[in-house]
Amino acid sequence: MAEEPLRLLILGAHPDDAEYHAGGLASIYRELGHVVKMVSLTNGAAGHHQRPPAEMAVIRRREAAAAGGVIGATYQTWDIPDGELMPTLEVRRRVIREIREFAPDLVLTHRSGDYHPDHRAAGQLVQDASYLVTVPNFLPEVPALFRDPVVAYMPDLFTRPYPMIADVVLDVTDRVDTILAMLACQRSQVFEWLPYEEGILETVPEDEGEKLVWLRRWYRRHMLPRAEHFRQELIAAYGQQRGRQIEFVEVYELSDYAAAADAATRRRLFPGAKCRPPRQTAAAIPSHETSLGGPS
Ligand SMILES: [Zn+2]
Repeated sequence: MAEEPLRLLILGAHPDDAEYHAGGLASIYRELGHVVKMVSLTNGAAGHHQRPPAEMAVIRRREAAAAGGVIGATYQTWDIPDGELMPTLEVRRRVIREIREFAPDLVLTHRSGDYHPDHRAAGQLVQDASYLVTVPNFLPEVPALFRDPVVAYMPDLFTRPYPMIADVVLDVTDRVDTILAMLACQRSQVFEWLPYEEGILETVPEDEGEKLVWLRRWYRRHMLPRAEHFRQELIAAYGQQRGRQIEFVEVYELSDYAAAADAATRRRLFPGAKCRPPRQTAAAIPSHETSLGGPS
């Protein structure tokens, strides 16, 4: 019997966060016939130095949809203003509705110690939603899930309050072309706003073909610190020779606040990746498996 396709939901703060941080895993999912939905919780309208927010909101929704189209994923951009995402009750309800209606096997988001307030809020919102998605009397108009999905955090290099735990490492070297094709759809970002912010706007070529060569160099420059940051984990996962050479990697930390993932679940949810055995945690969230028949 054919297995049901897996469902991956990426809840990023901005259009481009999903593919920048998790484009490799998303493309693997699609290649295996799984379902991928990427959501930007904000409209991304702050991301430009010349164009006004109203214009940017339209551009970014269009660019994100095109990026999703590269791998056949849905890319939805919400209307919350960029820079103003807050872990409010209203947005928590919206996130819970999204998770319940999509019914993902795996949710990816930012850690709540990431640099951008919208990223931190996204991480907090998913954490706040994680248990409540199973509670029928919270938001009763949307049927609750029986089980939490597994939730994992996308890679960041921040060390406060604690460095990211590399539960899953994925060499995405053979995914770079696809990731770049997705990023190239975010033209207002990768060829305009981000180089402007970095003070290198004048290095972006006019010619389309040269732009893609430029983007590849830009991406590599941004990914190398990630690979270096997780070098020991890469060596542990892939061995000395390959581990030392990998330049492009995605790393995921499993959330303690959602469903636990045993070794087999990790292998299933992160195809092609190297997964550490489950960590010992003192606490466990209530689940139907453990609480049925027990005291509540
Ligand atoms: Zn972002």
